[in-house]
Amino acid sequence: MQILDGKLVSAAVKAQLADKVTELKALGEKVPHLAAILVGNNPASETYVASKVKSCAEIGFHSTLLRFDAKISEKHLLDNITLLNENADIDGILVQLPLPKHINEELVINTIDPSKDVDGFHPMNVGKMVAGLPTYIPATPYGIMLMLEHYNIPTKGKHAVVIGRSHIVGTPMSILLSRNANPGNCTVTLTHSQTANLKEICLQADIIVAAIGRPNFVTADMVKEGAVVIDVGINRIEDASKKSGFRLVGDVDYNAVAPKTSFITPVPGGVGPMTIAALLKNTYHASLGQKVNMN
Ligand code: NAD
Repeated sequence: MQILDGKLVSAAVKAQLADKVTELKALGEKVPHLAAILVGNNPASETYVASKVKSCAEIGFHSTLLRFDAKISEKHLLDNITLLNENADIDGILVQLPLPKHINEELVINTIDPSKDVDGFHPMNVGKMVAGLPTYIPATPYGIMLMLEHYNIPTKGKHAVVIGRSHIVGTPMSILLSRNANPGNCTVTLTHSQTANLKEICLQADIIVAAIGRPNFVTADMVKEGAVVIDVGINRIEDASKKSGFRLVGDVDYNAVAPKTSFITPVPGGVGPMTIAALLKNTYHASLGQKVNMN
């Protein structure tokens, strides 16, 4: 069993991007600039946005964090997105989800200029991804593809089972893994809360991507010997021994599953850092007016 080290791969991606920034500066050109919007005080969202902003600083990107009270009106939020759309210095815009219930997330995403949509959630970019055209790939699946590529994990002809069909993880993951590309060329089964016989399906998987949001959901009896297991889940569970009162666990029962696998991602330190690396890559491409071509 080999651990897929998201911290290590993400550091390598960041080092490449830092070199690009140095080149841009030497040429007197503008450095990439990411704008992040955080609404309210959701502790997990605070952590995610802080690490995105910190990562920008580490590699020499500019970043702007716009914070709004949870009671912000939808119109005020949309107006601020429009201002960012019109601001030529801003290359990428991300709105940290989830948003408070009174705000229509779909409307917010649709308001972001698709050319600055570095999260890849705008329907125009989703459509391009489905059509196999250059676009911004949603950061988490893109980060997983970068990880598979880094470790040269064979995917061609493999059976990949994706658990979870969200727009931000499961569905785009299933599309990317089934593409005629490397990594890709998998036969993909996309499973979800209404799937019958999930255990039997998982037992046929050469690659499992778990994106459910339930601690220890994938147990050892669901995993074939030698499978590759990618754990996307980030779940907070109470832990009195920690200063924070909680610890993070994935969707996979790591201790029991890991010995059966050929490769596995830990939580934390697996997919999480790769998501940030992919977001930074998207922002770099946005600053050059390029999109990612995964074909
Ligand atoms: P979501 O709640 O939008 O989707 C969960 C999916 O799980 C749904 O499609 C649902 O059908 C499926 N599901 C629920 N119960 C199931 C069951 N019993 N059997 C099979 N499928 C079932 O979640 P999401 O936004 O895709 O996130 C999933 C997890 O990944 C969460 O823990 C989230 O925090 C984490 N996440 C991590 C990163 C990262 O960077 N590591 C990024 C995004 C999300």
